[in-house]
Amino acid sequence: MLDHRCEGVEQNDAGTVLRIAQRPSVRGDLVVACDGVNSAIRRQFYPDEKLAFTGINTWRGVTRRKPILTGRSYLRIGTVDTGKIVIYPIADDVDGAGNQLINWTTEKRMPGEPMNDWNKAGRMEDFLPVYEGWRFDWLDVPELIRSADTIFEYPMVDRDPVPAGRSGG
Ligand SMILES: Cc1cc2nc3c(=O)[nH]c(=O)nc-3n(C[C@H](O)[C@H](O)[C@H](O)COP(=O)(O)OP(=O)(O)OC[C@H]3O[C@@H](n4cnc5c(N)ncnc54)[C@H](O)[C@@H]3O)c2cc1C
Repeated sequence: MLDHRCEGVEQNDAGTVLRIAQRPSVRGDLVVACDGVNSAIRRQFYPDEKLAFTGINTWRGVTRRKPILTGRSYLRIGTVDTGKIVIYPIADDVDGAGNQLINWTTEKRMPGEPMNDWNKAGRMEDFLPVYEGWRFDWLDVPELIRSADTIFEYPMVDRDPVPAGRSGG
């Protein structure tokens, strides 16, 4: 079932009942929750759990430009300690002039910093200086970053493992 929002689950000896927003509930034998980092079902069982912030912030953008190397190349340059950028194309010939949409992501450790917000507009001065000297004969990295349509920043987050899969309330 697509386009249905799960709100929670009940289970008893007869099986499970999945509560769906503005729709009848669904009965089943078991429920596998794979509803992402903000899982509604996980929140039901672990209401006080906090996101695990890795201490790494990312700045992401999309730039329209001519294909890099093969036009299918996936590039990963540097490390998170020295500065790191991952670059790959996501759409071909977006303008009839052969330009691609090129996705790029930079990462930086933020020791001691609190977790930043999601989908916050990124400020170039916060990360571009790391990449200023990254000029190769096949790619000018600072130019790639400067030419982006928009830049957003996101914290690198995860969830700590839960002790075990659940059964019973
Ligand atoms: C901007 C961005 C860039 C990323 N880039 C990369 C990358 O380059 N490489 C990489 O390996 N990882 C990347 N990631 C991480 C990667 O996307 C996630 O690790 C991965 O998608 C997690 O998979 P998942 O199946 O756990 O959750 P998701 O992919 O988030 O899937 C969860 C699904 O559950 C649905 N859902 C949520 N709540 C409910 C609900 N209440 N009821 C019903 N359905 C619900 C959602 O609509 C979604 O379809 C990126 C993440 C972001 C945000």
